[in-house]
Amino acid sequence: MPEHEFDVVVIGAGPAGEVAAGYLSEGGLSVAIAERHLVAGECSYYACMPSKALLRPGELLAEAGRVPGVAEAVTGELEADAVLARRDEIIHDLDDSSQVEWLDNLGIKLFRGDGRIDGERRVTVGDDTLVAKRAVIVSTGSAAAMPPIDGLADAEPWNNRNATTAKVVPESMIILGGGPVGSELAQAWNSLGTKVILVEGAPQILSREERFAADEVAESLREQGVDIRVDSKATAVRREEGTVSMTLSDGGEVQGGEILVAVGRKPNTEDIGLESVGAQTNDHGFIEVDDRMRAGAGEWLYAIGDVNGRALLTHMGKYQAWVAVETILGREAEAVAEEIGSPHVTFTDPQVASVGKTLDQAIDEGINATATDVSTSGTAGASFYGKDTAGTSRIVIDEDRGVIIGATFVGFETADFLHAATVAVIGEVPVKRLRHAITSFPSRSEVWLKLLEAYGV
Ligand SMILES: Cc1cc2nc3c(=O)[nH]c(=O)nc-3n(C[C@H](O)[C@H](O)[C@H](O)COP(=O)(O)OP(=O)(O)OC[C@H]3O[C@@H](n4cnc5c(N)ncnc54)[C@H](O)[C@@H]3O)c2cc1C
Repeated sequence: MPEHEFDVVVIGAGPAGEVAAGYLSEGGLSVAIAERHLVAGECSYYACMPSKALLRPGELLAEAGRVPGVAEAVTGELEADAVLARRDEIIHDLDDSSQVEWLDNLGIKLFRGDGRIDGERRVTVGDDTLVAKRAVIVSTGSAAAMPPIDGLADAEPWNNRNATTAKVVPESMIILGGGPVGSELAQAWNSLGTKVILVEGAPQILSREERFAADEVAESLREQGVDIRVDSKATAVRREEGTVSMTLSDGGEVQGGEILVAVGRKPNTEDIGLESVGAQTNDHGFIEVDDRMRAGAGEWLYAIGDVNGRALLTHMGKYQAWVAVETILGREAEAVAEEIGSPHVTFTDPQVASVGKTLDQAIDEGINATATDVSTSGTAGASFYGKDTAGTSRIVIDEDRGVIIGATFVGFETADFLHAATVAVIGEVPVKRLRHAITSFPSRSEVWLKLLEAYGV
């Protein structure tokens, strides 16, 4: 077995692993990275990027329809084949050569195959053994979870990979799970002509968001034509002659040509040798780490990205990559963002962009919190966007400390409002001080001014 020595060995070249490898190489360390499928991971080929490529055309068409003058000019339907072709371009037709070139340019050595920890500081990939002088980083990501529902596994269910790379628009689809993934893909495929039924077991879709946000998205999806069933659990699934039938907990039944399962993620920790070094996993199999991303087995093992379960988002994996690399390089860095509440966006129309705590979370944690709400489109700047666009914006204030601890913006393209809220929440900027953070006229950022005026500062 050939042995190769590096400063750091990274297992999994998704966004978290790739970014860590890049920082390490820039920090002057020698790095090897093991990847069993495509360099750049789930996000680039089967998740964030293709889902947004499928969503954006429908969102733009809807917005055009809300802007007088443009609505008259843009009267056709989406050209589904062109949307799918652009999606294919964005995911590079599942070809990772440009990413491999990026690794090459940084001097990072790629080993194709399954990486497996084989004792302290040792990783095997096929016939090769990689020896890490300083650290091993596990960044193997996650895969779609499949719930143990009677008949589901035999019904040829789609996961996010099928749903983001499909070459043909299905006539109809049941989507199980109304979280961000299920809601976004419901809108995307509905916009391309699929008849979508979205089944959610909780009383609301987007159950981790403020209730008003979930309600506003549900109302919009229904208006777009998505059939949403909340408080509905799937009890059995059957596929017969090309039709999938799902029995629901209320005794009803729904049918579709395909079934997409979007009920959460499971970590890719099977058979990666964690037990050989005594690394701990939690009840759901995610690797337990401290705030420096160290996975317990001495000072040399780290776990970043989805696989540690702290916040299953690309930007959070990249943040954790920075924390881990700073630690490996002997500098001070501790992750705080997940505890405060990571920023996240659901790219439906309207979008939901939020950071920090919801009002209910804050109150449950015993914080003396209040919420202030305004209409997201109640600014002069919003006049130039769609007429009568839906959406509420909320800030959650810790009254004892006088700081914002949470914010949610629902509306057209609110994703880019979020960073200002993230700065305010992470920086614990006093609300009175924020009143001096002036927003340009007439920009939609004036929603901040409206929020602070409504709060009374
Ligand atoms: C449909 C969908 C849409 C999403 N949209 C967004 C979004 O808009 N914004 C956002 O922030 N997040 C989004 N996410 C979440 C995002 O995709 C993940 O948080 C992100 O991909 C996690 O990155 P990662 O590097 O931890 O893992 P992954 O991207 O899962 O990459 C892990 C890599 O490790 C490799 N690997 C696994 N095991 C081994 C092994 N033993 N040896 C070698 N290689 C291995 C895998 O092949 C993979 O390439 C979305 C998820 C889904 C499903």
